[in-house]
Amino acid sequence: MSALKFPHLFSPLKVGHVTIKNRIMSTGHDTQLPHKHNVNDALVAYQEARARGGCGLIVVQVASVHETALFSSHVLMAVDDSCIPGYRQLADACHAHGTVVFGQLFHPGREVMEGLDGSTPVAYAPSAVPNERFHIMPRPLTKRLISSIVEGYGMAAARLKRAGLDGVEIVASHGYLPSQFLNPRLNQRTDEYGGSLDNRLRFLHEVAASIRANAGGNFVVGLRISGDDFDHDGQKASEALETILALEAAGGLDYYNVVAGSSASFAGAIHIVPPMIIGPGYVAPFAATVKANVKKPVFVTGRINQPQIAEAIIATGQADMCGMTRAQICDPEMANKARDGRTDDIRACIGCNQACIGHFHLGYPISCIQFPESGRELTYGKRAPAVRRKKVLIAGGGPGGMKAAAVAAERGHDVTLYEASERLGGQALLAQLLPGRTEFGGIVTNLAREVERARAKVATRVKVDRALVEREKPDAVIVATGGKPHLPPLEGEGGHVVTAWQVLNDEANVGASVVVADWRCDWIGLGLAEKLARSGCQVKLCVDGLHAGQRLPWYVRDSWTGILHKLGVQIIPCARLYGTSGNTVYFQHATSVEPIIFENIDTLVTSYGHDRVAELEAELEDWGGEVHLIGDCATPRTAEEAVLEGLKVATGL
Ligand code: SF4
Repeated sequence: MSALKFPHLFSPLKVGHVTIKNRIMSTGHDTQLPHKHNVNDALVAYQEARARGGCGLIVVQVASVHETALFSSHVLMAVDDSCIPGYRQLADACHAHGTVVFGQLFHPGREVMEGLDGSTPVAYAPSAVPNERFHIMPRPLTKRLISSIVEGYGMAAARLKRAGLDGVEIVASHGYLPSQFLNPRLNQRTDEYGGSLDNRLRFLHEVAASIRANAGGNFVVGLRISGDDFDHDGQKASEALETILALEAAGGLDYYNVVAGSSASFAGAIHIVPPMIIGPGYVAPFAATVKANVKKPVFVTGRINQPQIAEAIIATGQADMCGMTRAQICDPEMANKARDGRTDDIRACIGCNQACIGHFHLGYPISCIQFPESGRELTYGKRAPAVRRKKVLIAGGGPGGMKAAAVAAERGHDVTLYEASERLGGQALLAQLLPGRTEFGGIVTNLAREVERARAKVATRVKVDRALVEREKPDAVIVATGGKPHLPPLEGEGGHVVTAWQVLNDEANVGASVVVADWRCDWIGLGLAEKLARSGCQVKLCVDGLHAGQRLPWYVRDSWTGILHKLGVQIIPCARLYGTSGNTVYFQHATSVEPIIFENIDTLVTSYGHDRVAELEAELEDWGGEVHLIGDCATPRTAEEAVLEGLKVATGL
């Protein structure tokens, strides 16, 4: 066997009584897959796909330890024995692939997102200090309730051990209940749980003792903690280290899992799932400080999206284990590919947050825009060979067309992908030009590689029309011709009006005073505003929505909003574009219908969505063969829908 490309990443690690085969971890992350608060077949299939793909350690998503810990409608609960069969099924499925499995024990404290029926439950915390992000005012915990919760941690751990898990992780990160006890700004108690560090640590010591007492030996107990909350009220790096040193001295834990951020504030929450604007592996320095001061293994997580980055972290001794969660949502086979040195075949996560954490915040099951099979393993987990080999013609080499080509060719069909321009990529090539979005171009690289590996034929600079279809005589045509800028009707005499695409392609001569009219409320309006502000323009971003980036994944939106604030971009919500005359641009307020007028404007930039490119669809209307529409030419949306529809259509051929 040839030498390993990543020898440190693929060396075993002993944690407590278990040996983990490599240093790749899938961290605890909400999937929205569980049903009725228990592990179900969908979650087992999802986690088994990562285990089959070579992941060394899977930490299953949080499980609430107490009835007061119900922080979302889909959270797992480990408050009675009904949780055991599901966990056992999951542990057995992952163990079969040599993967170690831990659970996460969780209490949110005041970080309650939602209730079960639309009403807000009572949230509990050490003290009545409000949460910024979810607007929760908690009720102070009584000592009786603290005892009950501490007991809940122990009972939950015992259940997970009975289910066959190898260990548990106490979630003291991201401003959740243990962190709320530790933080002197949130813990204002005057009893034995507040005040000095010893007192603030008491809850965590009691939790660890309860887990040990109930679960017994041969069971790993670790701690997840934020190296820095990045929050005005949160735990600082020095405080996190102080806590870890005290726990190390007490000797009750087997490892420390260092993450970043806090659920409590907009600024802190960005770090729970950092978007592409944040650099890869950025939490490693915090882990390195911890590692320099403790003997137990240190894990780290935070935009470690490639094995090269993980190898460097392990090799330089910054941490002992790397959380590569989205890397494996995007490519469940990542670990095996890295082990085998097939790095070019790895579908790297681009940090878009769109279908993983983005779905979670919308209440939908986890997936990936590049790999929509994720979270849909029960439906798309296996690629079934084609029953009959068909000649398939795909018109349009954007993300949807590429996905369709790769899947159809993998299934054994004879596939040719035609692209009218000189390059594959479609609108993704434009999207990567937005500030801070360069990495989005990875979707093109990754899908083009999948097309190549599947041996689909590619013809660029060829526009498909009816004559070409009649010449080629395919069994099926997939139309993926995409969209083009939608131009809204404008009242008035007219002014200097350009489209988002013209600005992104540097084809527009934009003046010094600019209004961006943003109907989409997504990446384009925010990105145009940033690009123009950085080039020295005075920018007003008028959004036909409640706030800028309304339709974006939360952490992408929140980080971008902060950037625009620093750049002095003025954001006007509920602004519906009406017209323009000379240097005046007119809007209507979307609810009051009162006019909003801006004068002395040099350029109006429109981000008003797209129209379908529908010529081929019309030409093929009476062709008589099998025709499928996917992506924006079906109706304009995003790359996520285009790729998913490519998968669906190609799976059904
Ligand atoms: Fe990564 Fe985006 Fe896929 Fe999430 S949706 S796993 S961020 S590529």
